[in-house]
Parts: sequence; structure tokens; C-alpha cells
Amino acid sequence: MKDFKTISNKERKKEKKEQKNTDILIIGAGITGLSCAYFLKDSNYHITILDKGQIGMGISSKTTAKLNYLQQTIYQELEKSYGMKTSKLYFESQMEAIKIINDIAKKEKINCDLEKVDSFLYTNEEKNQTKIKKEKELLEGWDIKVGEINSLPIQEIPILKGIVVSDTYVFHPLKYLLGLVKSIQNSVTLHQNTLVQEIKLQEDGSYLVSTTAGDFFSKIVIVACHYPFFLKPGLFPLFSYLKREYVQAGKVKKAYNFTAINVDSNLQSIRFYKDYLIYGSNEHKLTSVLNYKEGYQKSSEEFTSYFKKKPEYSWMNQDLMMNDSLPWIGILDKNQPNLYIATGYQAWGMTNGTIAGKILSNQILEIENRYTKLFSPLRTMKPSIIPTITNGLEYLKAYSKTYFNKNPRFYSSPVMILKINGIDCGVYIDQEGKKHIVHNLCPHLKCKLIFNEIEKTWDCPCHGSRFNMDGDILEGPAAFSIRIKK
Ligand SMILES: Cc1cc2nc3c(=O)[nH]c(=O)nc-3n(C[C@H](O)[C@H](O)[C@H](O)COP(=O)(O)OP(=O)(O)OC[C@H]3O[C@@H](n4cnc5c(N)ncnc54)[C@H](O)[C@@H]3O)c2cc1C
Repeated sequence: MKDFKTISNKERKKEKKEQKNTDILIIGAGITGLSCAYFLKDSNYHITILDKGQIGMGISSKTTAKLNYLQQTIYQELEKSYGMKTSKLYFESQMEAIKIINDIAKKEKINCDLEKVDSFLYTNEEKNQTKIKKEKELLEGWDIKVGEINSLPIQEIPILKGIVVSDTYVFHPLKYLLGLVKSIQNSVTLHQNTLVQEIKLQEDGSYLVSTTAGDFFSKIVIVACHYPFFLKPGLFPLFSYLKREYVQAGKVKKAYNFTAINVDSNLQSIRFYKDYLIYGSNEHKLTSVLNYKEGYQKSSEEFTSYFKKKPEYSWMNQDLMMNDSLPWIGILDKNQPNLYIATGYQAWGMTNGTIAGKILSNQILEIENRYTKLFSPLRTMKPSIIPTITNGLEYLKAYSKTYFNKNPRFYSSPVMILKINGIDCGVYIDQEGKKHIVHNLCPHLKCKLIFNEIEKTWDCPCHGSRFNMDGDILEGPAAFSIRIKK
């Protein structure tokens, strides 16, 4: 980044603002994009953030927001595929991210309910006790004090065996993100409701970024939009898959300050916000379940059976998992050194999105970072072949299920799939009898969409795009709506 005109910062910032030209363009105002902007805000570069919706309202708004390095069985998995050194380095990156968030909250005086808590890792299955033991041994080898437990502080949820650590945190993600926005607002231009639809490399090495609010030009682009929609179709999905989780929340008898997660096949995730329990469960690969009602009902019933009352709030959320359990943060293509990406956080994006901000800003500012290689998308992924084939087959299965089964069981009465003027349409009739008609085809890779009865959305079972009942994009990778043109 040595070839900018020598004009004063003030002049450059003014000029770029007017022309929709910028030095660094960040796509996405979630924890990743805003962390990148935070670490770049004092540089000489003009920074622009674009978000298709409102600040922080993507995946980051539906998270359980644990700041935790106790991430199920990640360290033994990484040790197995990449060795002890890599596993430890990942652990250190998570510790560093937790410290960074603490430091920023303190420095910028962000009141985000940041609280130190104990965190538990547990199992209810005899066979999984060895996994817990292994994770404990690894952490102790890295000087972490780990206790053993036979129960959680909340007696309603029984466990068989577990471990506990004490130096983890929870926070309120939206309060934190809005705090970040406040601290960058004088140095960064932020456009909300601006959907990016295409990124094109120009002859001079800069990027033309086409959006619903016109074209932007930038020397550097950071893709921080969760699912990197611009990547060559067919390739990225093979290295990654989506996992969906159902979350229930409701008041319990008292406020607790701990978090917990299990290592069993039916995921359970627990955190508290004051005297509200936030309970996640029934996680599944997006491609493997096409009826979201079942998972949702199961998780709601679990909550009810533990606490003898129905949850007050429910939602579902999904995160990108990479085949080798390590996020992709960095340059994707050696021939495009100014295009950066950060994604694939394995449902640990509060820490990984933060460390992504640090890594990418360091790369842009040519500062060394010890985690650059660890997360580089250019690494050889291990294991590589079997998960790639499995992902391919699963996409194919989900794709064909929605294609060839015209009236599959996941459509129920207020929803119809019809051909209107030769176009496959999805029709949802709302409670007032109003028809909402959309094009039943995902603009991303042409998968058919299924209706999500719980959240009244059209969801792509392949790569996770979601649309509201009128066809507007809620979540990518789709970059175009499925509204019917009148
Ligand atoms: C159920 C669940 C629980 C979780 N709990 C935890 C937890 O306890 N701790 C933890 O560390 N992590 C957790 N995670 C993971 C974490 O929430 C995510 O990894 C993280 O929020 C991802 O942040 P992001 O900034 O990359 O994406 P997002 O928050 O989704 O931000 C991306 C932004 O890009 C915008 N965007 C998308 N496409 C476009 C486009 N075409 N043009 C313009 N803008 C666009 C979106 O509107 C959005 O605002 C959880 C995930 C799930 C699913």
C-alpha cells in the first residue's frame, strides 16, 4: 500500500467521501467488519463500511456471545490434524481475542455487560468422558487451571461429568458493536441498507464494488459478510458447511454467572443474561434437515421439560464451519493481494471475528501477526479430501430433494409451490389472508427454497441464504432478492 497520492489525510478523506472512492472497503458491519474498522481507524486510509441492513443485525445479533476458549473438543481435533503447536497457537489466539475485547471495552468505555464467568464443558454420554479428559490434559499443559465437576450450578440440567475453567467472559454483542461504531464514527464512513451485489477486479488492481446504492471503488476490499458470496460458485461450499442451531430463552429462578456447553451428539449450550437462561440445542448440518419445525419444537420441549415452563423467546441461527475446524482469515488468492476474507468461525465468531480484525488490519498495515499463517485460507486443509466430497454429496442431496419432490412434507397448508407465468413461485398466505409471492429459486446457486414455518422465511437448504416472506434477503450468500418483478 505505497502508491497513494501524497495529499493530506483531511483532503483525501473529503475527496473519497464525495466520489464513493475509498482506500479500504469493508463489506459487513458485524463483529468481523467492525473489528477490522476499529483496528484500522487510526491509519491514514479512508475506510468505508457497507452493510445490507442495520449495524450488527446479522449472525452477530443472534449469538449467545460467550467469550470462551473452552470450545468443545477443538484442541484435540487440531492436535490430531495439525499437531500440538497449531492447537496451542489456536488456543492462544482465543485468549488474545478475549483480552482484546476486554481492553477495547475498557479503553472506549463500552458498557456492554462484559462479565467474567466460569465456563463448563460436559457430557452425558459415558463414551465421551475420554474427550473431556483429553481436553483437560491439553489445557493443563498450557497452564490453565481446570477443575472437575459432576454437576452444573443449575440443578435442572443434569450432567454425567465435566470440567470447569474460570477465566472466560460473556457480553452483550449489540452493545459492544454499537460501542465500536461510536469509537470509529469520526474516522470511518458507514452505509447501512446498502447491499453489495458484485465485486470486480479492475485492470489497475483496484476493485469496483456494485451495490444497490451505486458503485464504490476501492484499492482494498475486506469481505466480512459471513458467507463470502463472491467466491467462485462450487468451490467455497466444498471447503465449508453451515450448522443451524435452535435457541430458546426464558426467565429462571435466579441469575447465574456461568456458561456451559457439551460435547455430545445433541448439542446443549447454556448462558445467562441476568436471570434469563439462553439455551441452544439441536444443532444440525443445514443440508441434513429440511424441516426446521422439528428441531425448533424439540429444543423448546427440552427447555420446558427442564424448567417446567415454556421459553419466552426463540430463534434459530447458523454459522459457517470449515472442514478443518479453523477459520479462513486472510488473502484468498495470491494474485489478488488486496482482497481479504474472514469467515468460518465454527460458532466461535465473537473471539474469531475479533482476532480477524487484528490479523487483517496488521496485514494491510504490513505489521507482522503471529496468527496470519494459522488462519490463512491458502493453507493446505487437513483432512482435505473426505469432507470435501461429503459436502459436495450433501449439497447435491439437499438440492435434489427440493427439486424433484414438488410437494415435499416440509411444505404445509398456508404455503404453496405454483407455476405462475412459467416461473416457479412460492406462495405464503398470512393470517390476514394476504398472499406473499416470491420466486422459489435461490439466486446464489439456483437451489430451490423451502419455507421455514417458524420464522416465516424462505430458506436455502444448501448454502443458507434466507429471505423474508416478501423475498428480501435476510442472510447471504444470495446477493439478489427473490421478489417477483411486477
Ligand atoms: C446459535 C449460535 C450461537 C453462537 N454463539 C457464539 C458464542 O457464544 N460465542 C462466539 O464466539 N460465537 C458464537 N457464535 C458465532 C458468532 O455469532 C458468529 O461467528 C459471528 O457473529 C459472525 O460474525 P460476522 O461479523 O462474521 O457475521 P455477521 O454478524 O453476520 O455480519 C455480517 C454482516 O454482513 C452483512 N452482509 C451480508 N451480506 C452482505 C452483502 N451482500 N452486502 C452488504 N452487507 C452484507 C450482514 O447484514 C451482516 O451485518 C454463535 C453462532 C450461532 C449460530
